[in-house]
Amino acid sequence: MLIAWRAGKLIDASGADRQPDYQCPACHHRVVLHRGRVVPPYFAHHTLGDCAVATEGESRQHVSGKRQLAAFFAPWGVGTLEKILPEIDQRADCWLDRGDHQPVAIEFQCSPISRDQVAARTAGYQNIGVFPCWILGERYQKQHLNWDLIDRFAWKMPGWGLCLLFWDVSRRQLRLDHHLRQMATGKITATTSWLTRIDELRRPQQASRLLPVDLPAYRQRLTLDLLRGNTGLRDLQEALYLLRKNLPGFSPIFGTMRAYLPIFGRGPILWRIVVGTWIFSRQSSWQVPALWELAREGLTLVGGHVEGGIRFVAESPLRLALVDLLTDLVAGHYLRRTSRGWQVLAIPAWSRDGHEWLENNERK
Ligand SMILES: [Zn+2]
Repeated sequence: MLIAWRAGKLIDASGADRQPDYQCPACHHRVVLHRGRVVPPYFAHHTLGDCAVATEGESRQHVSGKRQLAAFFAPWGVGTLEKILPEIDQRADCWLDRGDHQPVAIEFQCSPISRDQVAARTAGYQNIGVFPCWILGERYQKQHLNWDLIDRFAWKMPGWGLCLLFWDVSRRQLRLDHHLRQMATGKITATTSWLTRIDELRRPQQASRLLPVDLPAYRQRLTLDLLRGNTGLRDLQEALYLLRKNLPGFSPIFGTMRAYLPIFGRGPILWRIVVGTWIFSRQSSWQVPALWELAREGLTLVGGHVEGGIRFVAESPLRLALVDLLTDLVAGHYLRRTSRGWQVLAIPAWSRDGHEWLENNERK
């Protein structure tokens, strides 16, 4: 921690002398000033008891980063390092008082943390009307984009889409991974922008263009994955076998180039294949509630996330994907819109293993 209590005052470690009687501002147990060559000065509990807000073993990154972030966010409001919030037993690494606006609690996360802890801390702030802003350290910057990261730390920012924020202590810059999306084939992508000043958040950058989806290559990858016994596909393949379908031979109408918010587990195309197949194998006419049920069931089967993440919901991207699928099926004359819903007109053809599609349609 950077701030300790002594003789009725809060003392910043950067200007502190060695004294025997510093106290933790939260639990009032004794803390000791550490002043080394590598890590800038900080306080640590003398013995780690049951302090609710203690985060021991502070790294240089965490100590320096908190100060850098306080300076970076200063144009947004009056910053306080390590603000204690006794009503929720939490301590914000940096706190921004924004006058008439909602206060912001910045959590600079450098160490591993469980989903439950993130959810509890996020809810703690939200319950007292504070906006939680998670900013991730080096350990997280090195990771490939993955669902665990997005689930715990991503939120939507106006103009920037779904975002993850990182602070780079050596560059003293904010890395913003924005417009987080999942390509039709399942890969999660983002556009990265580096911000040197907080005001740059007011001028959102465009999402970079997505690479087109190579459907023939995708079919071949499915074939290979199935040959290798890729366990993630087993449930899917079994569900389709029951309907006498072989996954790589999916009808081209189920392919898409679109990208969505990254809730689709193994990918939007697989979701379209299962939901599309069920539409034509289960009933000849459909209404919205039943289709919505199908959409959710399909999402679970492809390893997707029906509940969304801690700070964003899955409902709108799933609804969008369902609307897109139905629109494509109507345009392809497989479904007809009726006054009450949709009517099956024709059943999309599958190939045994996808070779016909490779030779005829998709190679064009
Ligand atoms: Zn304490």
